[in-house]
Amino acid sequence: MHDKNSIYGLATDGVRHLVPYKPGKPMEELERELGLSKIVKLASNENPLGPSPRAIEAIQSFMKDLARYPDGNGFNLKAALASKLMVNANQITLGNGSNEILELVARAFLTRDSEVVFSRHAFAVYPIVTQAVGAKAVVASAAPDFGHDLAEMRRCVGEKTRLIFIANPNNPTGGYLSEAELGAFLESLPADIICVLDEAYFEYVDKPDYPDSIPWLQNHPNLIVTRTFSKAYGLAGFRCGYGISSPEMTDILNRVRQPFNNNSLALTAAEAALSDTGFLGRTLEINSEGMVQLTRFFDEYDLKWLPSVGNFITVDMNRDAAPIYDALLREGVIVRPIANYEMPNHLRISIGTRDENKFFMDALTHVLRNV
Ligand SMILES: *Cc1c(COP(=O)(O)O)cnc(C)c1O
Repeated sequence: MHDKNSIYGLATDGVRHLVPYKPGKPMEELERELGLSKIVKLASNENPLGPSPRAIEAIQSFMKDLARYPDGNGFNLKAALASKLMVNANQITLGNGSNEILELVARAFLTRDSEVVFSRHAFAVYPIVTQAVGAKAVVASAAPDFGHDLAEMRRCVGEKTRLIFIANPNNPTGGYLSEAELGAFLESLPADIICVLDEAYFEYVDKPDYPDSIPWLQNHPNLIVTRTFSKAYGLAGFRCGYGISSPEMTDILNRVRQPFNNNSLALTAAEAALSDTGFLGRTLEINSEGMVQLTRFFDEYDLKWLPSVGNFITVDMNRDAAPIYDALLREGVIVRPIANYEMPNHLRISIGTRDENKFFMDALTHVLRNV
């Protein structure tokens, strides 16, 4: 009875075999371990400019109201999002990060008999939320660039498929699907299969053939688009994301969420950040400059990288990347190894400020000379 194995035995099958999400190494942890004075973290696709100053200002004046419960319906933030996206507020679900939306969809629509289709090398949260509810993951093989192969994903759809996850752009590979490709895929899907379109990096994409997915919602009540304040808006620590879907799907998700899933400071900060277009503009500018800076460097070193439309870039180190990751840590640089995405030779590097990128490039130069 007191054997801890018996407690594991009580967990559901899915949970018992679950491998937890492995986040980027926190800066404080590396500081504790190695006592380094300077650390640069380029591991979790955070905004290197920090949060929008407008968001900071907004939460400072909100502090006095912290004894109150948040607005459980997030009225103000939903109204701001609805007007920006030109949808109705009853089409928006707020989540504790967009990860929570992914989980709500899984909890609302999956049973132990369901199958869920997603791509190999796609975002690590899809298998976790699938397995946590005991559903079965069907992993589609990827395209040659490690991105989604929609034809292959379509072939994986069967009788039991209830849900499909698509990341556009994808993390950790950085590529994207065009409006034509994705539109045709959606058209081909049976209406009783839920499709989650994860657009966590939406704001960064600057490609004419990248889809505007919101109009698709009109003809596809089975579609939900997810976005977040964690990346371009610089609020990863607050955990605020959202889903946009048909009013029916939104109603269903609202039934399973916790009553106060977004805290009041996060709601306040997100609303302020959404209005700070100047900050968003600077964010995108720093990102495209950093992308050029890093890709030039990789070219010089003959390291192959995957073209990315996000705020990160994934590089083939041409050998097991784990020792390089470790050596970079000792130099005070945290990047992201992605062996858990079945890409053991690649490292994913978030785009930082000019100085952070330089610090990383100097560290990598040093490391590559010594490994
Ligand atoms: C970062 C990321 C998310 C968003 O996470 P939050 O919970 O909103 O912080 C979702 N999907 C992908 C593909 C991501 O990379």
